[in-house]
Amino acid sequence: MAKQRMLQFVSVEKQMPEKRAAEARAHDFKEIYGEFADAKATEQASRCSQCGVPYCQSHCPLHNNIPDWLRLTTEGRLQEAYELSQLTNTFPEICGRICPQDRLCEGNCVIEQSGHGTVTIGAVEKYITDTAWEEGWVQPIRPAVERSESVGIIGAGPGGLAAADALRRAGVQVTVYDRYDRAGGLLTYGIPGFKLEKEVVMRRNKQLEDGGVRFVLNCNVGSDISFAEIREKHDAVLIATGVYKSRDLQGPGSGARGIVRAIDYLTASNRQNLGDTVPEYESGELNAAGRKVVVIGGGDTAMDCVRTAIRQGADSVKCLYRRDRANMPGSQREVQNAEEEGVVFEWLTAPQGFAGDPVSGVMVQRMRLGAPDASGRQSPEVIEGADYVEEADLVIKALGFEPEDLPALWGEEALEVTRWGTVKANFRTHETAMPGVYAVGDIVRGASLVVWAIRDGREAADAMLEAFEAASTGVAAE
Ligand SMILES: Cc1cc2nc3c(=O)[nH]c(=O)nc-3n(C[C@H](O)[C@H](O)[C@H](O)COP(=O)(O)OP(=O)(O)OC[C@H]3O[C@@H](n4cnc5c(N)ncnc54)[C@H](O)[C@@H]3O)c2cc1C
Ligand code: SF4
Repeated sequence: MAKQRMLQFVSVEKQMPEKRAAEARAHDFKEIYGEFADAKATEQASRCSQCGVPYCQSHCPLHNNIPDWLRLTTEGRLQEAYELSQLTNTFPEICGRICPQDRLCEGNCVIEQSGHGTVTIGAVEKYITDTAWEEGWVQPIRPAVERSESVGIIGAGPGGLAAADALRRAGVQVTVYDRYDRAGGLLTYGIPGFKLEKEVVMRRNKQLEDGGVRFVLNCNVGSDISFAEIREKHDAVLIATGVYKSRDLQGPGSGARGIVRAIDYLTASNRQNLGDTVPEYESGELNAAGRKVVVIGGGDTAMDCVRTAIRQGADSVKCLYRRDRANMPGSQREVQNAEEEGVVFEWLTAPQGFAGDPVSGVMVQRMRLGAPDASGRQSPEVIEGADYVEEADLVIKALGFEPEDLPALWGEEALEVTRWGTVKANFRTHETAMPGVYAVGDIVRGASLVVWAIRDGREAADAMLEAFEAASTGVAAE
């Protein structure tokens, strides 16, 4: 039976004023407030003014019904709050943890806009869904009817898994192929465990498996099985392969030992945390313990690398970024977290080469911001004569990701891609130039966010179901 939750308008905040900022960033009422977590979630939810112009909702890619589930939380009706929130979000506890809320729902909360500090929407979303799991309110996947159609999904990241969930609930036969040994994509091997605990991802993988989704892991499409074979086996195919080609650095010494790719570094760390034996971690090649670490890049991946290096016990951690703080692509909240943990940011700096092999330093050029480019962003320019060497014995390149060349890898020239190499797909149905082949997530958008991959996956599943219905009734889908 659902636990009764009393309304508690006790101002926990007054009792623990220093915790407010931590809460906005840490997303964990239980960790911060312990036995007061319930009261704190209720109190935060009650701060929502029910403004009637829910910018939070319109700036959430899933258009979550935030004001209503905040109101239900305020009233102590947590189960109903959970039920409402999961109608629009396949993995609310994941988004609550790792959405960059300062750029999405919370950044557009009217209370935030009026200078009183946002309602911590992500923390409430996480709280109600974690509670739902604890209380047994999360329903297993049990389709009311089994359908004959089958869908092959390539890629077990959030885009593929959100589609798998929706299709399986509708009774479709779903097989997910992934080249990794665990499902979850970047939820499992990219995003660090201190932001997203791996049990939370594994629990969702299990729910899907228990619900009848078939996983074919350690299966690299293009080498272990061809794309054509997958197409042959299924009525529809979803490509959700993400983007994994790391942007590289050129310049003297760029091939030196001790210069590594962010994805390799983070994957090794995540594997080690999952209990795997990771030789590159054991050998120190992908381990920051006792090292002078320099991370190059200003996005969220760079923030994950610097914060992971701190946790591994690095001697020092510096982050080089060629623009200034205001112009960095990563979340400001993450920068603040990293600074509080001891990371030093060297704004307006760019590497021009590397000293030593193994690497002993980064040759750095100081930059300034010049005139805005076509996109309106100020372009960084070199300041002549302001070079210096930044000491480092582990350099992590976190310059972003590009798509692999899928048409060439899979021998499928009919799969149309954009000039950036992302797969071209209809923005509503997500169908590609190949009939019955859909594509979602980063492989369509370029490096993006989990919440957008979830939205795409849900929409593609809807479009496939419409197409199946149309085929079975003979009425063409729109
Ligand atoms: C380090 C890092 C941190 C991030 N942090 C955040 C964050 O805090 N918040 C946020 O919202 N977003 C974050 N992102 C972005 C987010 O993880 C992605 O936008 C999201 O995971 C994209 O989902 P996806 O399903 O499109 O692809 P992915 O999650 O990349 O999953 C793709 C899957 O396809 C599989 N695959 C690829 N090619 C093949 C093939 N040929 N055969 C078989 N399988 C294949 C891969 O193994 C992988 O499992 C982060 C990204 C990185 C790299
Ligand atoms: S899914 Fe992300 S953007 Fe939407 S309400 Fe949740 S935390 Fe905010």
